[in-house]
Amino acid sequence: MKILKIALPVPLRRNFEYLPPKDCQLDALQVGIRVRVPFGKKRELIGILIEICEQAETPVAKLKQAIELIDSTAIFSKELWQLCLWAADYYHHPLGDVLATALPALLRKGRALPAVLAGMVSGQQGADLDLNTEQQEAVTAVMNALGVFKVFLLDGVTGSGKTEVYLQTIAAVLARGQQILVLVPEIGLTPQTIQRFRERFSEPIVALHSRLTEKERLNAWMSVRAGQAKIIIGTRSAIFSPFANLGLIILDEEHDLSFKQQETFRYHARDLAIMRAHFLNIPIILGTATPTLETLHNAKQNRYQHLQLRERAGFAEMPEMEVLDIRKKNLEEGLSPVLIDEIKKHLENGNQVMLFLNRRGFSPILMCHACGWMAVCKRCNARMTFHKNTKRLHCHHCDVQKPIFQHCEACHGQELIMVGLGTERLEDTLEKYFPNYSIARIDRDSTTKKGSLEKLLEEIHERKHQILIGTQMLAKGHHFPHVTLVAIVEADGGFFSADFRAIERMGQLLLQVSGRAGRAGKKGKVIIQTHHPDHPLLQQLLRESYHHFANTLLKEREDALLPPYAFFALFRAEAHYADKALDFLQHIKKTAQTFAHPIKLLGPVPANMAKRAGRHRMQLLLQSQHRPQLQQFLKTLLPEIEKIPQKQKVRWSLDVDPVVND
Ligand code: ADP
Ligand code: ZN
Ligand code: ZN
Repeated sequence: MKILKIALPVPLRRNFEYLPPKDCQLDALQVGIRVRVPFGKKRELIGILIEICEQAETPVAKLKQAIELIDSTAIFSKELWQLCLWAADYYHHPLGDVLATALPALLRKGRALPAVLAGMVSGQQGADLDLNTEQQEAVTAVMNALGVFKVFLLDGVTGSGKTEVYLQTIAAVLARGQQILVLVPEIGLTPQTIQRFRERFSEPIVALHSRLTEKERLNAWMSVRAGQAKIIIGTRSAIFSPFANLGLIILDEEHDLSFKQQETFRYHARDLAIMRAHFLNIPIILGTATPTLETLHNAKQNRYQHLQLRERAGFAEMPEMEVLDIRKKNLEEGLSPVLIDEIKKHLENGNQVMLFLNRRGFSPILMCHACGWMAVCKRCNARMTFHKNTKRLHCHHCDVQKPIFQHCEACHGQELIMVGLGTERLEDTLEKYFPNYSIARIDRDSTTKKGSLEKLLEEIHERKHQILIGTQMLAKGHHFPHVTLVAIVEADGGFFSADFRAIERMGQLLLQVSGRAGRAGKKGKVIIQTHHPDHPLLQQLLRESYHHFANTLLKEREDALLPPYAFFALFRAEAHYADKALDFLQHIKKTAQTFAHPIKLLGPVPANMAKRAGRHRMQLLLQSQHRPQLQQFLKTLLPEIEKIPQKQKVRWSLDVDPVVND
């Protein structure tokens, strides 16, 4: 008698036992194949066979029979299987769900493995650039590590030619007949990015991103698996691709938040990429101008080899940075006269200017002039933003919209004023000042339609627009050679946030945005408007370097025992009634306190955003200075949590190595 242990895509941390399907040949049973099984009263699910046993844990009479085996051989390679097991273990996430994440939707739904389509047409072979000394050192270091596990931090200022380093190391890996994975941030996977690779290499390239249809995704997946696709460029989830022969992983913009999945299976693609490189014995490059403190810390500990590109490549120089003190200045909708003059100068010289404001909509506050009342979202702990294009109030946290108020809800006063600046308002103001120039606004609202972001970026490259306004969507990775002026309209927010990581992010964002100026030999300038021109960290970032700034933050983290000097795991719970969420987390805490352990338990406390979409949100933070200790603790704790009856009344999750504290 054979018993099948199957991992199913359900939110339960356990596997399920079934009997083999009718008339099943024993040698057809192989670990790693897909199996269709009955589940509950009427459902059918597709799971992965993870073990074939002689004995069941449940009485055999109670076991159901599987319906069919879908594959004739394992769908996962041994190495991808190993990565999934590791991830399920480390993130304490159900294995069935991890395995499902690794498969294209059509395979999750039971589609048979299709045949591999014929190769792509091959492109042109473009010429390498002559590397400067630091670029050459970086390329040589990586080439010497081909075939061994090694992590490189390629720490190069914006415009220093990191991409050229990638391209030349890729060429060396292709020459060995191996594949290359290039992981990029969500917003970075633009046609311009893919084009840069296509212009250089004639080998087949596939791009894996969220805009692919299910069929396209499956075809891409098959060609990666067959070893036909040589260069795979993808966002976060591409780390689960089934490579036939991977030789190098490149993760570009290492600091980018989109590498961490923020829901259900909360993995970090950077950390999984490092594990995968480790399992495969290959090198991995983490590239960025603004490394996270975690990665810098690892480099300082010599766990990673630190490669630096300190200067811009070719004829480009670093832009001139100017802090513009706007205290007591006459601002026109947030813009100082000095900035307006400067914009005019750059436009008249035939260049493009970019204005960065990390707030979409028209104005973030609708306020009563008589009593100070502000329009808030009834379902969230947040104010509503006025949007001019819809003439409605939007909540940016639960996406609720409603018509604008005619009068104040508190005093019925009729004079409601728009306070604060969003990208729509900035666009209006600039239209007024510069009617003869075309404006491109890039934010989530202007790019909802499929293909609209691509179109706008293309038009910017063609110089159809001279003024570019954007949120952080515009800050990342773009190479616009004609942008000579970058203005940061408001640089104050991140320095005063409740999240201890906010300041690190603020610094990264400021430098990333600044890095869009003067990238192609035309002298660039950056203007930063602020009410806190003397803030010591802002001064350090601009007058000294990102490294000085990061070192100060690292010291603070060390003193406060925060990551990377401690390890966190966060339990989140939300419910319609705050006390239900609180109660559940208190039970976890109580359970945890019954074990002898040195883990610090902080909370439960309301989350920074205490209510979202009608649910009250609470969190309990676990903190330890030893990662294995925290891991072991979670392993003992989780089965106990599954038994807490209050868990039925809440939505809860565990986030290992959380990166946002919202
Ligand atoms: P990064 O990715 O570091 O921001 P890029 O790779 O986009 O920088 O390079 C910025 C610009 O410098 C690009 O136009 C690129 O073609 C150019 N460049 C890179 N390396 C060299 C080099 N060795 N010589 C001349 N130009 C270079
Ligand atoms: Zn009022
Ligand atoms: Zn809301």
